[in-house]
Amino acid sequence: MKRVLITGAAGFLGSHLCDRFVAEGFHVIGMDNLITGDLKNIEHLFKLEQFEFYHYDVTKFVHVPGELEYILHFASPASPIDYLKIPIQTLKVGALGTHNLLGLAKEKKARILIASTSEVYGDPLVHPQSEDYYGNVNTISPRGVYDEAKRFQESITMAYHRFHGLDTRIARIFNTYGPRMRLNDGRVIPAFMGQALRGEDLTVFGDGSQTRSFCYVDDQIEGIYRLLNSDYHLPVNIGNPGEISIKDFAEEILRLTGTDQKIVYKPLPEDDPMQRQPDISKAREVLGWEPKVKRKEGMTKTWNHFKTLTKEELEKTEHRDFSKRNRR
Ligand code: UDP
Repeated sequence: MKRVLITGAAGFLGSHLCDRFVAEGFHVIGMDNLITGDLKNIEHLFKLEQFEFYHYDVTKFVHVPGELEYILHFASPASPIDYLKIPIQTLKVGALGTHNLLGLAKEKKARILIASTSEVYGDPLVHPQSEDYYGNVNTISPRGVYDEAKRFQESITMAYHRFHGLDTRIARIFNTYGPRMRLNDGRVIPAFMGQALRGEDLTVFGDGSQTRSFCYVDDQIEGIYRLLNSDYHLPVNIGNPGEISIKDFAEEILRLTGTDQKIVYKPLPEDDPMQRQPDISKAREVLGWEPKVKRKEGMTKTWNHFKTLTKEELEKTEHRDFSKRNRR
């Protein structure tokens, strides 16, 4: 049985990747330090012999016994609220963690795919963003800890590829949503859905004219899987080009949830990118991939998932308004 190591296994994307690799017949080794991950996301896998879990921090030297075919590095805080709370860990997991995993990949002669992000483009000056755009990043803003760690991550991955001939893949992941997002992680979809469930008004930051493009998790996982199985080592954007302003999106969510709350406006967090939309020509050409799930369908599935949360779980995840703390 081929063996794969997935870091960030208890997180949103990591847990969906564990499911996918189990379904593909792999022996899956999940690793997570559980700072932002939640064992609930992978609880169903523990009964399988095909799955094992290491509670471990990848910023320390990583050892895994036996052979490894693939490593997927998905450990990282991934929401602005987390970067504010744990900025040093965010930098360390992208930088030191990636270095350790590249070393492990070299040792095991494994192929490694790293989870990069559209944040490497910062607040982009070109639209939509294609892989050859170098980005517009503020190194010292609250988001800088994530953006710069991920830029370093790409850089060291390419250096291992060029210098050591390591078999590497880089996925630039754009906003992705779906079941198992943390309801209180501050990201816009769980934030709005949590507010709809608790009967609170929806908090739009700024005037809501900033845009995002949301990719359903099943499409994202398929894109990542295809990239891993391709022979392409340069970065590839994986996301859904369907762009919408945050204000229109809030209205869409109110229609979907059938709730009669209002939209209220809060200050825009520092360095909140004004627009973001992936150019996925490269993914279409190299992977034969494009997203299939329409926003309405994906959002309905996500809403149905959040509706199953118990009252206690919901109370634990009260919306935290970080927009003021996040200002200069
Ligand atoms: N946002 C918002 N209200 C919220 C949470 C987020 O208006 O309660 C906005 C946020 O300012 C940003 C967009 O929604 O413009 C997407 O935010 P998210 O944190 O999901 O992702 P990112 O900014 O990293 O793309």
